[in-house]
Amino acid sequence: MTARERFLRLKLRLLLPTMLPASVRRVMARLEAAGFSAHLVGGCVRDLLLGRRPPDWDLATSARPDGVLRLFPGSVPTGVEHGTVTVTSGGRPLQVTTYRVEGPYGDHRHPDRVWFTEDLSADLRRRDVTINALAADRRGRLVDVVGGLGDLLCRRLRAVGDPDARFAEDALRPLRVVRLAAQLGFEVDGPTWEAVERAAPALARVSAERVREELSRILLSPRPRRGVELLRDSGMLGLILPRLEPLARGQGPQGLWEHLLSTLELAPPRLEVRLAALFHDLGLGAEPGPGPASAGPERRWSGPGAVRAEAGRAAPGPGRHPEVGAAAAREMLERLRFDARTTAAVETLVRWHETLTACPPAPWPQLRAVGAGVGRPRLEDLAWLRAADEAAACGPGGRVIGGALPRRARRVARGRWPLRVEELALGGREVMALLGLKAGPEVGRVLERLLEAVLEDPRRNTRRRLAALAREAGRTGAGG
Ligand code: ATP
Ligand code: MG
Repeated sequence: MTARERFLRLKLRLLLPTMLPASVRRVMARLEAAGFSAHLVGGCVRDLLLGRRPPDWDLATSARPDGVLRLFPGSVPTGVEHGTVTVTSGGRPLQVTTYRVEGPYGDHRHPDRVWFTEDLSADLRRRDVTINALAADRRGRLVDVVGGLGDLLCRRLRAVGDPDARFAEDALRPLRVVRLAAQLGFEVDGPTWEAVERAAPALARVSAERVREELSRILLSPRPRRGVELLRDSGMLGLILPRLEPLARGQGPQGLWEHLLSTLELAPPRLEVRLAALFHDLGLGAEPGPGPASAGPERRWSGPGAVRAEAGRAAPGPGRHPEVGAAAAREMLERLRFDARTTAAVETLVRWHETLTACPPAPWPQLRAVGAGVGRPRLEDLAWLRAADEAAACGPGGRVIGGALPRRARRVARGRWPLRVEELALGGREVMALLGLKAGPEVGRVLERLLEAVLEDPRRNTRRRLAALAREAGRTGAGG
């Protein structure tokens, strides 16, 4: 054991008692008092050794699920066939899983069966990478049977045992390796990486939901660019986000792939914004040809500076590259079974990404007009996307310069200026009474006209001024 390893073990013994929530300690102590062994396992031990606060605490025990259920009244069998019982302690749910080993993975996704064991080290050996195969008891004594501590100190991701065999068992593991590399900034050990490349095609057999969860965590990690580059290098990108793959192989317009990656890494860590950043200019890579995609004035990528849009540009229309990109984004997100809300949000962000400018920040009336188009909840995200897009277009080393546009967007989104017809000081009934109209499309047209006027200048949003504007609109025909 090296001196650094000894030091880290000691640190864990000193640190754990101060970090371990009392509710978790109580469950461990109770299991031990009943004659079982209990250990913290997986991500939480890894995080503690890295000096991070673990987001959750996973417990493993030699007690069988029925024993755990008996010991903790009110606990729920949440995955008994895999040995997991959820115990509520101190008001918080805690997963307690029986030590287990796994049978063959007939379908490359799930073990055909699992066996419970009293041997912690057998349980640790079934885990994916060595840094995730560490355990600690409640006194902070580390159990390391696969050299995880050494790898953690070298910041290295290494499969437990034979990497090819481990990836053949569960085809999700190579993607987990990429995710951990993006989250932790660790290097992937040579033989493990070669096995990742060999195993990549099997990802096609993994459910869309599991892939989606890992992709989301890669994009939300501190190193989303690295994650996406590793997906490309391993051959997994084409299986996850097929529309990006040709660009990643350099087939798209020159500089476009780099621009997407730069925008991604400059975007704030919100899933919708990061997804939209990665997709936003996808429409520029679309091949010109017949079909709706090329029906309009397709703008071609012509170097980083070209993303700067003119202020006051009209809302997106069919055939424009944001529209083409939005459709491609929706297609990919639906394939990965993203929820409808996220999909719609990303689609909107891509479609509208050229309607604002960050530098100089779009003027207020324009922000209000765009806010009316995308809706209040999306406006700030759109501003962040645009700020990242423009900063990325400034070339390497670009930063999201200030937050002037996002700050303005937040004010518009949260402010009391009307962005919707329903928020106007004059309602549909009043318009009908004023103009002697019956319910119908004409009323809607007048209201739209009023909203346009108010978006331009919110001081117009008084009953008196809107009534005057309505009468005028009635006289001239509401612009329909
Ligand atoms: P995080 O802290 O981000 O949740 P994690 O490492 O805890 O990361 P989980 O998905 O919560 O990841 O899994 C908990 C533990 O279970 C892992 O640390 C690992 O030991 C083991 N594990 C999870 N998924 C697999 C898998 N597909 N193959 C082998 N072991 C796995
Ligand atoms: Mg976890």
